[in-house]
Amino acid sequence: MICEENIITVEVAGLIFGDGKAKFIAGPCAVESEEQIYNLAKELKKCGVDILRGGCFKPRTSPYSFQGLGEEGLHYLNEAGKFYGLPIISEFMSIEEVLKFHHLVDIIQIGSRNMYNYPLLRTLGEIDKPVMLKRGFSATYEEWHLASQYIISNGNKKVILAERGIRTFETGTRNTLDITAIPFMKCRTGLPIVCDPSHAVGLREFVEPLAFAALATGADGLMIEVHETPEKALSDGRQSIELKKFPELMDKFRDFQRR
Ligand code: PEP
Ligand code: MN
Repeated sequence: MICEENIITVEVAGLIFGDGKAKFIAGPCAVESEEQIYNLAKELKKCGVDILRGGCFKPRTSPYSFQGLGEEGLHYLNEAGKFYGLPIISEFMSIEEVLKFHHLVDIIQIGSRNMYNYPLLRTLGEIDKPVMLKRGFSATYEEWHLASQYIISNGNKKVILAERGIRTFETGTRNTLDITAIPFMKCRTGLPIVCDPSHAVGLREFVEPLAFAALATGADGLMIEVHETPEKALSDGRQSIELKKFPELMDKFRDFQRR
């Protein structure tokens, strides 16, 4: 294991990020209905997923795209997680959302677009809740590290980083997964780091190989988008793995971990 002596661990509902065993976070890009999230939670729990994801406040590039179900969706996610015994992660985009809703999630996700939102990061430092800080899509390692320090130096040490791909000259994929970030940031910051191959590549057929690359380079977790019917998803269907194919992938991840 890389730089083992530097590793800071972050506990989320009894799961330890940074203990040397990758955690699996999966779920839809967005919570779309109560039925959708309950069904996904049930099936994902069965195949051994550790944490359920689901966006409710969605940072969409276009203001005309589906913006998420907001508070209503967050209640569905929270209740589905409780019902099936899965901790949950969801993104908040504003200080108001953090203050009002942080008690409803187990991890607060800060999205790529908000990595530079310093007032928001400072507020996260004042609350007692794990934060997953995604890398800004054009952030250097130093900028990302310093963004984490806005939270940590303000009092909240429970920060997990997430590499979700960066913008490069390449246009064939949604982003470019910077695999170097995984061992490098783990070593330099001591923080646990999760890889989100779904947003990195944007194409479901490449999520699996990138996920293995992340595990091989020491990622402390994976976050993968899954949907029951990706072609009908309200957001990010093209990168979502079909639910019925996901158990097989989870089996492969576990086999890899046993090696
Ligand atoms: C997401 O995880 O749903 C998301 C919007 O990711 P990112 O902030 O990495 O674009
Ligand atoms: Mn998404």
